[in-house]
Amino acid sequence: MAYVITDTCTKDALCVDVCPTDCIHPKKDEPDFEAETQLFVDPVECIDCGACVPVCTTDSVHALEDVPEDKKEFIDRNAAYYKK
Ligand code: SF4
Ligand code: SF4
Repeated sequence: MAYVITDTCTKDALCVDVCPTDCIHPKKDEPDFEAETQLFVDPVECIDCGACVPVCTTDSVHALEDVPEDKKEFIDRNAAYYKK
């Protein structure tokens, strides 16, 4: 399982600061931060701790089984970011 970020993400990076495995990217100091419209969770490195959920003010992070029906495409889009 892994957590999934959707397109309501505002890139404030609050989740990056609390993630214990550093699996949310791009970070503000990474080259593609400006170009990307949202952040993504690495499904391989995520340990499902849930720490990113309460800090998100836009309700953009969901556990895999809780991703809303109209946001399911972001499951693949989060994973795809790490296959580039
Ligand atoms: S805390 Fe929420 S809005 Fe902020 S970067 Fe993370 S997912 Fe995006
Ligand atoms: S659930 Fe935990 S490990 Fe996974 S992205 Fe959120 S803070 Fe990081």
